[in-house]
Order: sequence, then structure tokens, then C-alpha cells
Amino acid sequence: MKVAVFSTKKYDQQFLEEANVEHGHELIFFEPRLTYKTAPLAEGCQAVCAFVNDELDEAVLGRLAKQGTCLIALRAAGFNNVDLEAAERLKITVVRVPAYSPHAVAEHALALMLALNRKIHRAHARVREGNFALSGLLGFDMYGRTMGIVGTGRIGRVMAEIMCGFGMRMLGYDPYPNEEAKKLGIEYVDLETLVAESDIISLHAPLTPDTYHLINAEMLKKMKRGAMLINTSRGALIDTEAVVEALKDGQVGALGLDVYEEEADLFFEDLSDKVIQDDVFARLQTFPNVIITGHQAFFTEEALRAIAETTLNNITTFEELDACGEDVTVEALKNVVKARK
Ligand code: NAD
Repeated sequence: MKVAVFSTKKYDQQFLEEANVEHGHELIFFEPRLTYKTAPLAEGCQAVCAFVNDELDEAVLGRLAKQGTCLIALRAAGFNNVDLEAAERLKITVVRVPAYSPHAVAEHALALMLALNRKIHRAHARVREGNFALSGLLGFDMYGRTMGIVGTGRIGRVMAEIMCGFGMRMLGYDPYPNEEAKKLGIEYVDLETLVAESDIISLHAPLTPDTYHLINAEMLKKMKRGAMLINTSRGALIDTEAVVEALKDGQVGALGLDVYEEEADLFFEDLSDKVIQDDVFARLQTFPNVIITGHQAFFTEEALRAIAETTLNNITTFEELDACGEDVTVEALKNVVKARK
């Protein structure tokens, strides 16, 4: 199948080409992000392979459909950037990689927590300057503290497994509580209780209309004063302007972000010789108790390999159904995969 791959970086090309040896698709790599303007690059490609900041709204999907695209293969778990209703109307099938390495993301969330708690970023800078003073670097024992996990799906549960080893009390909030999480020691509570009692809150819920600005000014006020907030899920789960205010008055004690609600114009690019135009982002960078990484939680060898393999399996399965332009549901694809096993 002819596949237009958008937002391509060298590492995407490397892992996709390695996985494609078994599949033999014609992969055409494009560096630009998918937008209405760049969509014509996919002319004649039955499949489009897209990433988290590619735009897949009604206008872009309409353009792709006219050009002959009938499959969107997301190389990501989240699908908040796709207008699924428009895709269905246009008979474009959307597939994704629901699980690749929950460990990659949970371990990165842990890295942010530990670095913020023990001020590793500041200590590293000080020692390089020959400053060995400890004032300002005081942390806390995580043992015995309370951890709040918002979203106890695949990544949230791995987070809980890891935190068990730290001897933390674990609270969970999820509209669909699950037994596996309870066995790991998670006690389910409502969101208000979770934010009020947790010393560290880690977000692992998908971005949906229900979770948009889940952590807003009101919720931030309910947090334990000085608690730490970590977001490796999707930026818009947090109202960023509200969190800036909460950091200014000390209500939020530390903030670790791997995602940012306006990240599409920033992340994944080298902008080191440009002036950042986003003032909210620039303000966040001024806090000593904020660490931001540029959407790299997924970025491990294991995860990239699994993402490439699943993406190409999805494309091959769709091709074998020979159903371009038919009303192929994800369920039908799943059944083909099941029948093969
Ligand atoms: P999952 O579907 O296994 O789990 C998500 C959980 O969130 C489910 O249990 C669901 O019931 C719960 N949920 C739904 N609505 C909720 C709400 N209103 N409040 C609280 N919980 C809610 O997904 P996952 O694999 O654990 O991934 C979680 C999210 O992590 C993804 O949606 C994606 O946005 C993000 N992610 C980020 C990266 C990264 O590199 N930073 C990588 C992969 C995934």
C-alpha cells in the first residue's frame, strides 16, 4: 500500500523502514506536520500515517478523502486530534496503537517526580558551577506519602506498580475503576478527595471533552498546598494559565510536564535560535520548580519498535481486507487480527 508518513523524524523513518521489511509497503516520508496546506503531499496515497500533532479535522480529512486516502494509521495511542465522526462520514478508517510500552511513559513520569522532588536539575547546574551548597534543594521522602493517579488504564496501572515499590499510599480516580488496579493497592476515590489528599498527582487519562481542563483553577485550589503535579498524558488536561497562577502563589509546589496544551507549534522541533512567542510557555520556564520535557515520555527503543510494528500490521490488515472506501470499522479489523491468532 502507498503510505504518506507525516511529521517524520529520522528515528521514525529508521524504525518504520526496519518493520516494513516484513510488509513491503511503499512508505513515502514527509517532514512537515499534516495540515490542510500539507495534505496535498499525500495525493494518491491510500494510507496516511500520522502522529500526535498532525491535524485530522474535517477539512483535512475531506481533502485526504478526495485524494484517495481511505486509511489513517496513527502511530500513537491518543486520537484526540482526529475528528472521528467526519472520518466515518468520509469512509476513512482510523487505526491507532492502543498499547506499545506503558512502561516508557510511566517511567518518564517517575523521572519527572524524582527530579522535581530532589531538585536534580538545579543540583546538576550548581555542581557544574562549583556551587556545592544545599540550601534550596530540600526534598521529601516519598515513602509513606500519598500518590494520586488520575486514569488507571494501562499507563496508570504501571505507574501504580512502580509506586508500590516506593511504599506510597495510592489513591485512584477513574470513571471505570478496575479490579487489577485495586489489587495493586489503589484505593478509588472521587477526584476532589484525590487532589485534596495527594502529595503527588500524576495524570494518565486521555484527552476527551470530559477531561479538557480537568485540572482547572477550582481543582487547583482543592489541592493539598505545595503538592506536586505531573502530566505525561495530554496538555489540555491542565488549564495552563490557572496552573501558572497556582505556581506563583505556592499552591502548586512543583510541576512536571511532558505535554503542553499549545505544544503543536513548539514540540518536536529545534527552535533554539528562535524567539518563543508563547508567553504562557515562556512564563512556565521561569519557575525553579517546573520541569518540562517535549513530549518524550514514549521515546524508548522498545516503544518505537512496537509502534512501528503495530502501525504496519494495522496497514497490512486493512490492505488484506481489500476494503478501501468501504465502511470498515475498527471492530472488523480486530476480528481479522483475532482470526489470524
Ligand atoms: P488507557 O485507555 O489504557 O487508560 C486511560 C484510562 O483513563 C482509562 O482507564 C479510562 O477509564 C480513564 N479515563 C477516562 N476518562 C477519564 C476521566 N474523565 N477521568 C479519569 N480517568 C479517565 O490509556 P493509556 O495507554 O493508559 O494512556 C493514557 C494517555 O496517555 C493516552 O490517552 C495518551 O493521551 C497519553 N500518552 C502519552 C504519551 C507521551 O509520550 N507523553 C504516550 C502514550 C500515551
